[in-house]
Amino acid sequence: MKITHHLDDATLMSCAAGSQPEALAAVVSSHLAVCPRCRAELKQHALIGEALFEGLRPEPVTRDAPVVAFRAGEATADETEACEMPAALHAALNGRFDEVPWRRAAPGVWHYPIPLSSGAKGDLRLLKVAPGTKLPEHGHGGSELTLILDGSYSDEYGTFRRGDVADLGDDAEHRPIADPVHGCICLAASDEKPRFTGMIARLLQPLAGL
Ligand SMILES: [Zn+2]
Repeated sequence: MKITHHLDDATLMSCAAGSQPEALAAVVSSHLAVCPRCRAELKQHALIGEALFEGLRPEPVTRDAPVVAFRAGEATADETEACEMPAALHAALNGRFDEVPWRRAAPGVWHYPIPLSSGAKGDLRLLKVAPGTKLPEHGHGGSELTLILDGSYSDEYGTFRRGDVADLGDDAEHRPIADPVHGCICLAASDEKPRFTGMIARLLQPLAGL
């Protein structure tokens, strides 16, 4: 797996600090599982963090979440390289993408919300976009992460293939188009539900002709 789009420093730092909301941590851990480069950088951030805050330890991640988050040092193996989807997700969804109970959101776009632990804020969902589908230009507010699980998409920032993560800043706007042959399946997370839901609505509105 050749990965060209990685997590940015701020994301890795909050991961190392253990301060990431569950939904974002699920995407981060899924990328870390297949990306030795980000794992190495995370380790550096964790070492720096330990030196700065000696004695402070983050609370352990809850294990009742369908998608168990990795912590620094826990994601060590490329165990998901051979799988169709990351191992934690595979366990949560119990199968392959064609067995996901997709919900149609608009022509050529399906989604499947993944439940989080009770009380956890944020939003985590799978998105499936049909081959060649163009999404309208849209921005991303706050912390949102998108990991490509299958197929690819292209936009102003390049082509995002399996394993790549889009860690776009607040002011980033883009107009993605799904791979003309394979389409695109991705895992998208936001730290706040209303904002993400707003983004989904803005994204899907023109497609749905609303
Ligand atoms: Zn990476």
